[in-house]
Parts: sequence; structure tokens; C-alpha cells
Amino acid sequence: MSAVEKGWKDVPIGGLILEAGSAKKYETGDWRTHKPVWDKEKCSNCMICWIYCPDASILIKDGEMSGIDYKHCKGCGICAHECPRKCIEMVLDTGENGEAGAGE
Ligand code: SF4
Ligand code: SF4
Repeated sequence: MSAVEKGWKDVPIGGLILEAGSAKKYETGDWRTHKPVWDKEKCSNCMICWIYCPDASILIKDGEMSGIDYKHCKGCGICAHECPRKCIEMVLDTGENGEAGAGE
């Protein structure tokens, strides 16, 4: 066994969450194949996308939608499906503009 490998007694038991809020550090946006692109001009700030997003990836600032957290958005497309004004479009994610809040 090399110096960097851990023995079985050192590895956490599977399924345990050792630290509260750890999901925030886990950038699940890497899993995405398609990403939501938001058209701010058409948005009425009804917050329906915020209610439905299973990953809390709709960003809010001063009571209004301010963008999409691409670091955590998994690209499920629910926001685009539910938006009554059709101002979120799902597009193939080429890896560009992957910053949090992009789409503003
Ligand atoms: S559901 Fe559509 S209109 Fe409503 S806040 Fe989200 S993007 Fe804007
Ligand atoms: S695509 Fe899914 S995870 Fe991403 S912002 Fe929309 S509802 Fe949330």
C-alpha cells in the first residue's frame, strides 16, 4: 500500500454525511448535458422556476430573479418547462459561460 492510500478503518462508512451543508461545496453542475439560458427581458419574476427547481439553482437578489447557479444546476429542464413566459431555454452545454449567475 502506498503512503497516500487509506486503510479500510480510515475511510468513512458509505452513506454518512460527515459535515452539514456539504452539498453546497459539491458542484453538481458538472453532471449537466444541457443548461438553462434565461431571457431576463421576458421574465416577470413570478418565481415559479425558483419553486420548482430541485437544486435551488435559481438565484434571487432583492426579491427578483438574478440568474442561474450553473455550478449546481443539473440541467433537468424543469424550470424551462414550468416557466409561464417561456423565458428559459434549454441548450446544449458546451462548457462556456459556466459561472454562477451567468444568464443575467
Ligand atoms: S418562471 Fe419564468 S417568468 Fe417566472 S421568474 Fe422564472 S424565468 Fe422569470
Ligand atoms: S435546469 Fe433544473 S436544476 Fe437547473 S435551474 Fe432549471 S430546474 Fe434548476
